[in-house]
Amino acid sequence: MEVQILGAHLAELKGARLTSLLIDGVLVVDAGGLTSALSLPEQKKIDTVLLTHHHFDHTRDLVTLAANAGYYWRKQLAVYAPRYTLDIVTRCLLDGQIYANFLEYPSKEKPTLIVEAIEPYDRRTIAGYDVLAVPAKHSVPAVGYQITSSDGKSLFCTGDTTVGISDCWQHVSPQLLVTEVAGPDKYEDWLKKAGHLCPRLLREELIQFRNLKRYLPRVIIIHIGNPYEQEIKEEVAQVAQELEADIIIGHEDMKIAL
Ligand SMILES: [Zn+2]
Ligand SMILES: [Zn+2]
Repeated sequence: MEVQILGAHLAELKGARLTSLLIDGVLVVDAGGLTSALSLPEQKKIDTVLLTHHHFDHTRDLVTLAANAGYYWRKQLAVYAPRYTLDIVTRCLLDGQIYANFLEYPSKEKPTLIVEAIEPYDRRTIAGYDVLAVPAKHSVPAVGYQITSSDGKSLFCTGDTTVGISDCWQHVSPQLLVTEVAGPDKYEDWLKKAGHLCPRLLREELIQFRNLKRYLPRVIIIHIGNPYEQEIKEEVAQVAQELEADIIIGHEDMKIAL
């Protein structure tokens, strides 16, 4: 399994894209900074998009990907998300007013996007992967996805999350954990209220993982608050040292082989 970080940041600016992951070139988790990270032939390989929640920084490029798929190669894309997420995304991003309605374009019979609800604890075979959606703690309803390939490699992507993501640990056993740190420890209270993690909070959740599972997976941090990147890096390095764990900050175009 190859995991490619397309977007690793909280804000979009030159050199930084919004959250998006690509698995083996075909399966996308969250569509923040997706299309600007990939050539058209690379985009053409994508079959499936999983959305963790409806926030704009995770869903925006569903529209730009659908436009390319719909206009250039008339390909259908499967989009999976919890019902709550799909309701908001279809109402706000695919309403036919802000842009074309890719749920009906080019035709109602063969639209570009085929959306399907995946509910928490649903275990489904999607694009040849075993996919398990697990409720994640965030400011709005959200799920994380454990994605396991046919040869047994697996990652768990928490999406945006905060204290209590440890409730997920009993349901997953990934080799790679992709999670978030939106800001440094000095903003802990604010981050908690906004449904995010700082390095100190992440540390507590990882300790619970280790207590429960007797191991820690490799951890890659994304959704990094851009202005605080260096501070986050230093604090995460401290956590990695204390836990003797492999925890690193992700970056755009990073590829991880599992
Ligand atoms: Zn969010
Ligand atoms: Zn976000």
